[in-house]
Amino acid sequence: MAIAKGYAATDASKPLTPFTFERREPNDDDVVIAVQYCGLCHSDIHQARNEWGNSKYPMVPGHEVAGVVSAIGSKVTKFKIGDHVGVGCFVNSCVGLPERNVDIEQYLPGIVQTYNDVEADGTTPTYGGYSDSIVVKEGYVLSFPENIPLDSGAPLLCAGITLYSPLAHWKAGPGKKVAIVGMGGLGHMGVKIGAAMGADITVLSQSLSKKEDGLRLGAKDYYATSDAETFKKLAGTFDLIICTVGVAIDWNAYLGLLKVDGTMVLVGAPEHPAPVHAFSVIAGRKALAGSGIGSIKETQEMLDFCGKHNIVSDIEMINMQDINEAYERVLKSDVRYRFVIDIASLA
Ligand SMILES: [Zn+2]
Repeated sequence: MAIAKGYAATDASKPLTPFTFERREPNDDDVVIAVQYCGLCHSDIHQARNEWGNSKYPMVPGHEVAGVVSAIGSKVTKFKIGDHVGVGCFVNSCVGLPERNVDIEQYLPGIVQTYNDVEADGTTPTYGGYSDSIVVKEGYVLSFPENIPLDSGAPLLCAGITLYSPLAHWKAGPGKKVAIVGMGGLGHMGVKIGAAMGADITVLSQSLSKKEDGLRLGAKDYYATSDAETFKKLAGTFDLIICTVGVAIDWNAYLGLLKVDGTMVLVGAPEHPAPVHAFSVIAGRKALAGSGIGSIKETQEMLDFCGKHNIVSDIEMINMQDINEAYERVLKSDVRYRFVIDIASLA
């Protein structure tokens, strides 16, 4: 077995520390990836700190994994050594094999998360991209378009697909008025992708502090939700609202911004349940929906779309040794807009 170097959480209350472990031997259908960059997703923090109550330790987080193929199994056909590839939020699923063209496998039981989970054998822990190598079944490896750099491309694998999927599913495009709630790692991808789809994008953010960025990234309008006038002025405006914030907000107020037959989609998950009044959706035949990442097929589509439109994440590069400080900064929304770990710093 190959030895991998990484950083792990060993306990919910301790900082991440250096961790050396064995990667499994590649099977015939596996791809071995030399990881170069890994994005820092807020869910890494939730899981490292056991905030969802399902954490297994030691845990090597990281599901925005970008690197170069360093070896392939004998039956691998889609990849060769040297290819630029990525791994997103899951590395296996028992039902939705991409080759069966089931493209909602992220919603089916049996999904194997890239970290904080066990492989299909039921015993081998999965360790994520805060490490210098990873071994993944060919069907769960994504191809990076040539023009997408691996560092700023890494966040597409979770943040990018999390926004692309609902924008595509609810048909954001020319003539559609779309609001993105929250201008963080997720929201800034929604602005770029939604604008490239041709939709008319408005950012709804707590303050106007990132307005210039929002307009630069493709939004037509930008409003502060701390200003009560915003909710009066924009009542009945949007076909689609994508809510990326992970803290409790008054969803009823946002539902009031939808047109008749409009849909509000939650992709951020506040910790506690929040009340929704029936009349918030009855009046105007509105829908409140949710969306989680995307299938392997759709994630590849998203990468190809981003390649075509030259879309990457705005990133701040850090060394692996800075990870604990970066976690604190993410909690203060002090990043524009995604931290990416330079895995070479592990050497
Ligand atoms: Zn994520």
